Order: sequence, then structure tokens, then C-alpha cells
Amino acid sequence: MTFKDFKFHKNLLKGVRIAGFKEPSPIQKMVIPIIANGEDLVGQAHTGTGKTAAFGLPIMDKIAKGEIERALVITPTRELATQVSDELYHLGRFCGIRTITVYGGVGYGRQIALINKGVQIVVATPGRLKDLYKKGKIDNFNPEIVVLDEADEMLDMGFLDEIKEIFEYIPQNRQTLLFSATMPEPIKELANYILSNPQFISVVGESNSTNNIIEQFYYVIEESQRDEAIVKLLEIEETNKCIIFCRMKREVDRLTEHLKAIGFLAEGLHGDLEQTERERIIRAYRRGESKIMVATDVASRGLDVKNVTHVFNYHIPFDPQSYVHRIGRTGRAGKAGRAITLVSTDEFRELQRIQKEVGADMQLATIVLEADSEELYNDFASLQAMVEEVDISPIAIDFIDSMEQMDYHEFVERVVTLLIQQRKPSINRLGFDEETVNSMLESYEYEQKVARKSNRKKKHR
Ligand code: AMP
Repeated sequence: MTFKDFKFHKNLLKGVRIAGFKEPSPIQKMVIPIIANGEDLVGQAHTGTGKTAAFGLPIMDKIAKGEIERALVITPTRELATQVSDELYHLGRFCGIRTITVYGGVGYGRQIALINKGVQIVVATPGRLKDLYKKGKIDNFNPEIVVLDEADEMLDMGFLDEIKEIFEYIPQNRQTLLFSATMPEPIKELANYILSNPQFISVVGESNSTNNIIEQFYYVIEESQRDEAIVKLLEIEETNKCIIFCRMKREVDRLTEHLKAIGFLAEGLHGDLEQTERERIIRAYRRGESKIMVATDVASRGLDVKNVTHVFNYHIPFDPQSYVHRIGRTGRAGKAGRAITLVSTDEFRELQRIQKEVGADMQLATIVLEADSEELYNDFASLQAMVEEVDISPIAIDFIDSMEQMDYHEFVERVVTLLIQQRKPSINRLGFDEETVNSMLESYEYEQKVARKSNRKKKHR
């Protein structure tokens, strides 16, 4: 199947050709005919599947052919809004389609003027859009098609009430499309509220996405080994651009500093940074001036950067949804990617929840590190310093006295060898092996069982 089969306007096909899209992705094959047919749609898909073009192309085709005049796309974050409108601009520029992005934190005037001047596609974040409707500033903007992108993110960010309010200002006789990576109950309820007789499609199964080549690994490590493990992985894995996800802003700052101090091109990204600073960091990363982005979940929502070869989870995320989002930053547009997660025994609960959701695709990994005694054998200076620092014990003196019959030189050589053998590198293996992990899991499950039992007893009392 090719894009020509959709019978798109010829100027739109030119945009697709120049973007280098050879063949529609699975989600595009499924949803383009539904949207072209005017039906409502719930699409379960995450970023990286080609979903922007999947809704963008049929919408722009209708505009190019004069079938509709306006469309609205609502996204959870400014970054995603900018990304979506960039993609629509690139695909639709030969049709002369005018698109604007509307978000908070900047002046109202220009946004209002452009909308009222008659742009065809508005890509907006919920807060600012609701403000504009509520203040009566964009009364004449009546989109015939509305897309709600990454609805589950909107739920996570607490936007659902705002979304419902926005829909009160939009005409009923519209076509509505809702996309979400996961379908928690509140999203299903929202879909019932804003859609009518929708078609359902899902491309969350690995084989159906354009990014079906993400290899997923996890290392079970000691809590204290995280920094060392990340550094080793960065050295061992052949990374181009990579993202290291942390749970907290503080952790982002600390790890970024640590990586910079040992010579990595790392930058940190989190919600406390000024918008202009965030944009600068993302631009530098896109251009390859920095290679490692250390980020929190919120900061990286919807981040679509080409050639991200690796996603590392410094800590396993709390919920499966973020795991899916995080690993979706690599393996984009048909390129291979690797997602590597560090897990400590305290995080087995999260590990099991994620494994249940994403299936058995996460493989346990371990690496025996080469940098072992070889390196230490040759490090004479540190060995000498170590020997010199030791206070001689009376037992040692007695011992040597009692060994008179042995060749003195040979004796010292043997003792030093013993010393070298005992000097183990701090990590000589990254990650516990399968057998150890299995027995750790067994005792974790046993503890869980005991805890559940004692909880039940407490309830009965
Ligand atoms: P999305 O899921 O919309 O974030 O898209 C992920 C990436 O895939 C974007 O960089 C798109 O430009 C690219 N893309 C979308 N559709 C196709 C296609 N049919 N062939 C190749 N790349 C595509």
C-alpha cells in the first residue's frame, strides 16, 4: 500500500514525498480511511507510531479539498503542541495550510489575532485554550474536526475538567478523534462523553508500531551501584543520543553534574527550568551538541528527537504508562533502539507491574566487566601506596620470623599476589545473574504473602 491509495490532494502527497515517508505505518493504514469517512475514533497508540500524520493527513486533505475549514488539535504540553504543528507544517506546506500553536506563558494578543484572522489548524494546550474560549476571544473558531492527543497524559496532568469545559464551546456536529497510549477508566468515560459511535483501533502491540524494534533490558543491581552502573553502560553501549530518565528533579541535577564532571556531554531537563532554557537544551540536543539528556518524565513528554539510540531508566518508573512513554523515545521511525532499566530489589513491585503490562519483552541482563585484576596488577603506584600505608602488626613480625627456611623474595611475591587477588574492583559484574534474581524474587514474593496475610488478620480483628 502507498500514500497514493488514500487519494490525497496532490499537494499533500508532495509534502508526504518530501518528508520521505515511503509507506503508511500500520496506524496510518487503519485510521486514515476512518477519518476520511467522517467517523469518530478512539485510537490506542503511543508516540512513535506515526499517529500525528495518521490524523494530520486526512484532516489536511479535507481542508485542501475544501470539505472542511478548520480543525483543532489539543495536546497536553507545549513541547508536544510545537512538535505536532511542526509535523503538520512540513506535511501540509504545499497546500498552503496555516497552522498555529497556542499555549500559556506567552501573550494573548498575537494568538487571538491569528485565530480570528482565519488559521485553519490550531494546535493548543488545554489551559490557554479554555481561557480563550471562556473570555469569548475566539467565538468564531468553530472547528469541524477536533483531535485530543495523548489523552492519558492529560488525565495524569489533571486536565480532564478543562477538556470537558472546552468541549462545551465546540459545536456538537463535529468529528472527534481521541488518541491515548493507555485506556484507564476516566479516559473511557471521557470518550463516552465527547465521541459519538466511535470506531476503536489499537496499535499498542509491538508488531503494529513503526517503532517495533526496541530491545528492552533490565539489570538488577544494588541501590548503591546506580551511578557506577550508568557510567559503565554509557561506556559499553554504543550510544549516539540517549536519554536517562530519573524520578526526581534533584536526581536529574545531581546525575547531570556527575556525568559532566567525568567528561560526558550531558544536559539536565526538568520542570523547574525556565521555558527558554528548556527550549535551548532541547535544541542543543536535537542538533547533537549534547548527547545525553538526563530528564524527568514531565520534561520529556512527547519529545521526538531523531536518532535516540538508547533510553536508560536510572530508576524504574512507578507505573507502566510512563515506562511505555519513556521507551517510546527511542526506536522511532523504524530505527532500532535499546531501553535499559536499572532495578534494585526495592523496586520488584514496579518491575512486576510493568512486566505484566508490557509482556515478557524485558530481558534480564548482566555484564561481566573486563576492567578487573588486570588493571589492578599494572597499577603499581596504588599498590605501593597501599603497602606503605599499612602499619606493621606484631603478628606479621612473628610470622616472618617463623618462616626462616623459605626464600625471602619468593615469600614476598606470594604475599603480594595474595593481596592483589583480594583487591576486587568495586563492580566486576553488572547486574545479578538469573539464578540470584530468581531467588531474590522468591523471597520478595514470600514477604509479600506474609504481609498480605498479616493485613487480612488485622482487618478481621
Ligand atoms: P509520531 O508517532 O506522530 O510522533 O511520529 C513519529 C515519527 O515518525 C515522526 O518523526 C514522523 O515524522 C515519522 N513518521 C510518521 N509516519 C511515517 C511514515 N509513514 N514513514 C516514515 N516515518 C514516519
